[in-house]
Amino acid sequence: MLVPFGRRTLTGLVVGTSAESSFDEGRLKTALESLDEAPLLAEDDLWLIRFTSDYYHHPIGEVAAAALPALLRQGKGLYPTLEFITITDAGEGADVEALAKRAPRQAELLETLIDAGGDGLDADTLTATLPNWRRAAKPLFEKGLASRSERTTGPRDEADAAPATPGPELNAAQREAVATVRDADGFAAFLLDGVTGSGKTEVYLHLIRDVLDAGRQALVLVPEIGLTPQLIDRLQKRLGIRPALLHSGLTDLERLDAWRRARSGDAKLVVGTRSAVFTPLPNAGLIIVDEEHDHSFKQQEGLRYSARDLAIARANRAGVPIVLGSATPTLELMKHCEDSNYTRLPLPERAGGAEPPSIRLVDLNRSPAEEGLSEVLASSVSDHLAAGGQALLFLNRRGFAPTLVCPSCGHIAECTRCDSRMTVHARDQRLKCHHCGSSRSLDAACSECGAEVRPVGAGTERLEDALRKRFPGRTITRIDSDTTQHKGAMDAALAAARVGDADILVGTQMLSKGHHFPKLTLVGVINADQGLFGTDFRSDERMAQSIVQVAGRAGRENAAGEVLIQTAFPEHPFWRRLIDAGYAGVSTDALEERAATHWPPFSRLALIRSAAHKKTDAHAFLDAARRRIGQTEGVRVLGPVDAVMARKAGRYRAQLLLQASDRRALHALLGRLRPELEDDPTARRVRWSIDVDPIELF
Ligand code: ADP
Ligand code: ZN
Repeated sequence: MLVPFGRRTLTGLVVGTSAESSFDEGRLKTALESLDEAPLLAEDDLWLIRFTSDYYHHPIGEVAAAALPALLRQGKGLYPTLEFITITDAGEGADVEALAKRAPRQAELLETLIDAGGDGLDADTLTATLPNWRRAAKPLFEKGLASRSERTTGPRDEADAAPATPGPELNAAQREAVATVRDADGFAAFLLDGVTGSGKTEVYLHLIRDVLDAGRQALVLVPEIGLTPQLIDRLQKRLGIRPALLHSGLTDLERLDAWRRARSGDAKLVVGTRSAVFTPLPNAGLIIVDEEHDHSFKQQEGLRYSARDLAIARANRAGVPIVLGSATPTLELMKHCEDSNYTRLPLPERAGGAEPPSIRLVDLNRSPAEEGLSEVLASSVSDHLAAGGQALLFLNRRGFAPTLVCPSCGHIAECTRCDSRMTVHARDQRLKCHHCGSSRSLDAACSECGAEVRPVGAGTERLEDALRKRFPGRTITRIDSDTTQHKGAMDAALAAARVGDADILVGTQMLSKGHHFPKLTLVGVINADQGLFGTDFRSDERMAQSIVQVAGRAGRENAAGEVLIQTAFPEHPFWRRLIDAGYAGVSTDALEERAATHWPPFSRLALIRSAAHKKTDAHAFLDAARRRIGQTEGVRVLGPVDAVMARKAGRYRAQLLLQASDRRALHALLGRLRPELEDDPTARRVRWSIDVDPIELF
């Protein structure tokens, strides 16, 4: 609907109708225009929007905006008429190189249009890739090299996928898992608890096949970096259909198209990242959440929802089974299984007979690391390469070095806007803040005393350099967010790594998950101590997840895998437990500890955050919140306290933690509190938010 709003006209969504109103008639306004002939969203879709708004205590309008594709949010129709720019025949034959010398921007646009082919590109998509394309377009139109038109976008023609091909015969544990889910009648939640490489994806494939055969739809949610061409390829080949994909790399029009196909029921399989949980599915039969422990399922700003938790709520409402898979399940799900709310489906062994990797510690006190690399690890890399294997070195810290120190006066380069140190980036000779994104040039001399400064510690760039020195002639590929900024760079690097074109892979978190590198036999964890003394009650769980996930990359095929972990604290009990009893051991201990200390999943949390240019403002708001909460039965209030990084991007940040053993008490309180806080005078000077079930506490 188009509706009058003050002096403006805005797009609104009808969420309900009524014949009466408590407002005076004179204050009611008439809607200007209906934008869609039929309701855009079905009853179930509206239910999910309402549920999300209630559960996360977030304005319903913003939830609806998050749930809809951008073009619909802007008030365009389901099949919008858009401005398209298309290459002409003359443009196809133009000399791009000659043009590039005189008018590089025009050449760039021309090339983009040539790549796009006969359908052309819509204006919004062009703006996303080439922000100032319009200036370059004018001369191209005048020369007849490109043309402009208005076109109504219909459904896209989808090429048929090749017919389905069969997969491996399921093993006993996989068969049991599939059979148990098949027996579900209506809603039921399953934790597919399978070690890395145990064949979880095969289980998903069989369950999806059933749903397709029954003529219904399946929704698969994957982590942000899990939606690889490898996975899509596998789904397509095995199921013989093209899934509708929903992820952040799509243009608005592609996203709308996938959304429409899901909404009409044409798309039988919808695969997407976090926000795909809102996709309409008129005929849902199954929901799958792969790598349920992954943090990318929780949105960390604005509407702070967990796509995993909403998926469960959605399956419940739709009366269909949900399967949540992980090699390192969260304690939340483990507890649900213990309480018998959910059913645990164990896949205890690697499929296809591969052995689990062996784990060994490298004591950094005895074998010190130089530029990140200890002698023990380096010689192990040598051995594995000599045996025809591949090595992956995991270091969750990009850049050259995390700290720049002056050995003469002790000055450390810090961010001017955050309470944090600047990271040295040697490749582009800059100091960068990984928290706010600010950067400045890297000087060789100390800004305080002029002495020569020294980078301390190692990031992925430095480790890459050290490896090049140590292994000349070997192919070394670094994969982190600095090397994969260009579209497709990540996929290309991973594809090369898979076929064995890289001998040594160096990378951050993004390398640690989901990938299958057939030749990989050695995984080295460069800096494991970051998480050992964490302040968050989730530290152990997280640390074990991240190590087990990266270790799971080793030895997935025939050759046995080995994992070396560099640590300065080899006596720490965490390591013994992890090596002796694996993730199951660490997580069982952690669950007991949480029960004793009443942290989640044995209690519920909500965090109220505030940020302001003045520290006193940030605190005044939370003090007011605390006063308004007063004594609330069943809710414990902790704080306000400064955030661990008290100043970020020029703003002071503080927080108030609410803890309750009963979810209802907490939600009743938040329901009352939110409108009060919105009207509180202290709220005008801060940015504030409510985070229900926060996963980042500090
Ligand atoms: P996960 O999703 O648990 O990491 P995948 O489903 O990707 O595991 O399986 C890991 C590897 O084992 C894949 O190469 C897959 O083709 C193979 N695989 C899975 N199930 C079987 C099976 N029952 N027999 C033989 N190979 C299998
Ligand atoms: Zn900063």
